[in-house]
Amino acid sequence: MTEYTIKPIVTGFCKTNKSTYIYHPSVHKFYDTEGFEMLPVTVFLVEGNGKKILIDTGMCQTEIADKYHHPGDTQPEGYAIYEKLEAMGYKCGEITDIIFTHLHWDHIYHMKKFPNAKRYVQRSEYEFATNPIPLYFKSYEEPRLGLTPQFDGLDFVLLDGECEVMDGISVYLTPGHSIGHQNIVINTKEGKYHCCGDLIFTYDNLLPVPEMNYDITPPGRFQDIVSEWNSIIDMKKRAGSKEMILPTHDPLMIELEKEGKVFGA
Ligand SMILES: [Zn+2]
Repeated sequence: MTEYTIKPIVTGFCKTNKSTYIYHPSVHKFYDTEGFEMLPVTVFLVEGNGKKILIDTGMCQTEIADKYHHPGDTQPEGYAIYEKLEAMGYKCGEITDIIFTHLHWDHIYHMKKFPNAKRYVQRSEYEFATNPIPLYFKSYEEPRLGLTPQFDGLDFVLLDGECEVMDGISVYLTPGHSIGHQNIVINTKEGKYHCCGDLIFTYDNLLPVPEMNYDITPPGRFQDIVSEWNSIIDMKKRAGSKEMILPTHDPLMIELEKEGKVFGA
């Protein structure tokens, strides 16, 4: 089986309300939930078997993020995914595939910059993203807000549940944050990493809360908390340890990118 390497790339920062996003109201008394935290928006570059694959494509420029999403969201100069890749010595045309965890705005920007990439997403996610209820217009940048969704007019390979996408890379459904959210499992010589998008926001969401008989710390922001809960439990079981789980928004990714971390190297 192909053994890949994985590089975290931070594309900007979301000003995240700790009490409404990271921590469910029922666990507030067990955590510091005051105020905001600047969480990274991470993309993962996966290389192996002659392929260069992106897991998500990250967030947009500050102007749009701050105006339409969360006030205070920031993309510093040079942080757009195509700029980061160029600075690392890659060309956009070299990207062969993009596998999306889900289609929320901060995971999909600039996908049109990669002319040779095949795009993969779950069918249920694509169907909801292209026809969301008004509550999710912002998340998917619905045209009625005056925006054009990044996926507009593009083709996708639509996946139906758990499957192998290519040798050494598979996906499984992890609904809860969004309807068709999926985790991407990547084989490396260190074992199988699970890119889990927004299934958890930070590693705190994996922690039990014994006082509540909780085996996880549920997040505060979700589409369906029962699915979310079950998806997190399922991921913990499959991944075996925290070290094999790579979330988009945990602050650890900022440090790992700085030190030039390559998983599976
Ligand atoms: Zn996100």
